[in-house]
Amino acid sequence: MSKKQNNTNIFDVGNADPVKIISEHISKKGKLKGSKKEIKSLKAICPHHRYTKKGKKRFTVTRAGGNTMRCTLCGKTWKADFYKPENLNKRVDECAEVVDQMKFMAQAIGAGKESVREVTNISIHLGRIKKMYKKLQNVAAKRDKIKNKKNKKKTSANSYGSWGWLYK
Ligand SMILES: [Zn+2]
Repeated sequence: MSKKQNNTNIFDVGNADPVKIISEHISKKGKLKGSKKEIKSLKAICPHHRYTKKGKKRFTVTRAGGNTMRCTLCGKTWKADFYKPENLNKRVDECAEVVDQMKFMAQAIGAGKESVREVTNISIHLGRIKKMYKKLQNVAAKRDKIKNKKNKKKTSANSYGSWGWLYK
């Protein structure tokens, strides 16, 4: 378990810009390119945005019916509207419960250093989700407001829920 680092992301994100990494791995057909392992890692770090040839950042999402957004690169879907606090907390707490069991299990079975470190890091990061979400949401909500004002006559913005400002 500890000797093989199968789960390690092969792209060292570190301080690198994930949008740049993704942009360098897009085929002419607009799909992620690389070996199976590379694509798995790319999907994990996909920021759902890419740079154009001129260096402009563009999102890579489409509306996937209902209130869902879908990334055309990694294929992941998520709801377009912001989570209500109680829903967010419920989802994060459920994840945290899984991670707590993992932390317990890792010690109980005497898992290797690498596994213990990984599960500890997951726990630390997970503990930051609620605060981080609120921070991001506050900025996004402000932008939505500004854009809605600007677009009053052009409409359309509202049909994209909280992300009207993304769709000019
Ligand atoms: Zn994506």
